[in-house]
Amino acid sequence: MTRKSLNIRNALSGLFCLGLASCGNPPAYQTDMFDAAQAIHTLEALSADEMQGRKVGTEANAKACAMIIERFEEIGLQPVAGQFEHPFTYGTFSEPATGADAAPAKTGVNLLGRIEGTSEREISMIITAHYDHVGIIDGEIYNGADDNASGVVGLLAAAEYFAKTPPKHDIIFLAFDAEEDRLGGSIAFVADPVEPLDTVALNINFDMLSRGDNGTLWASGTYHWPELKPVMSDLATRAPVTIKMGFDEGDGREDWTLLSDHAAFFRAGIPHVYFGVEDHPDYHKPTDDFARVDQNWFLRSIETVIMAAAEMDARLDEIYAMRQAATET
Ligand SMILES: [Zn+2]
Repeated sequence: MTRKSLNIRNALSGLFCLGLASCGNPPAYQTDMFDAAQAIHTLEALSADEMQGRKVGTEANAKACAMIIERFEEIGLQPVAGQFEHPFTYGTFSEPATGADAAPAKTGVNLLGRIEGTSEREISMIITAHYDHVGIIDGEIYNGADDNASGVVGLLAAAEYFAKTPPKHDIIFLAFDAEEDRLGGSIAFVADPVEPLDTVALNINFDMLSRGDNGTLWASGTYHWPELKPVMSDLATRAPVTIKMGFDEGDGREDWTLLSDHAAFFRAGIPHVYFGVEDHPDYHKPTDDFARVDQNWFLRSIETVIMAAAEMDARLDEIYAMRQAATET
């Protein structure tokens, strides 16, 4: 159902809308890493009013979920443990930092798909992005285009890239639910991970990739995992957007280490890199809309995080050794 409507829109814009501004122009930025037009369509669809802010537990959230699964299927991801959908229960967390789950009561659905690596070695990485947002508050829809339809689009684009360019190591693509409800989806996943996490070398988390208001995409986490710094510095010299490391060391700036889904991996001793932009005037406001995204910058931001993921895959043995060394000390 959802895929059909998307395909119809693609077909219409391709066949009938050329040159009509109201139908949208092809994206200004061209890349062969992923389908830029599809990425923009998906961003618009996930942050449309009919998605009603994708709040966990709502029908509209389930609609977003169905749309992401359709894309998983189109891209050719394999289900994990037999299925893409992994429902979970979670509760009212007395303190998100401890992950303590006082009274499991609510439910959400995490989405997992896999691309197998070409190497024999059974280590893997998990690329994550939450698809839920905060819903409707005081009658206003919070569309959450940047937070975090943009990260989901980044995750899907990365999946597209690795489906065409097989990675060395297995990659799990995980769209989390209930991030906006005290990181419910990721805490539940790490507590009961579908597959053991002891061979996971790295979590790469995308949360807010599209607003280049000040032109910088941040990579947070290397303070804790300094061996990742050379990878990021090298990436910064080639990346199509400005990329900086920070927001992870309590140096007077905000520390993002425990503020999104990578936190659950961090607490479990699994290395992470979190990519995101700084808060902007529309952050957690009803105005976090598709129309406010600079599409050109967003597409370059996606390309940047895919380049990062490809580099991390190439060096995943070293990264896993880092995880093991950290566990031993
Ligand atoms: Zn978010």
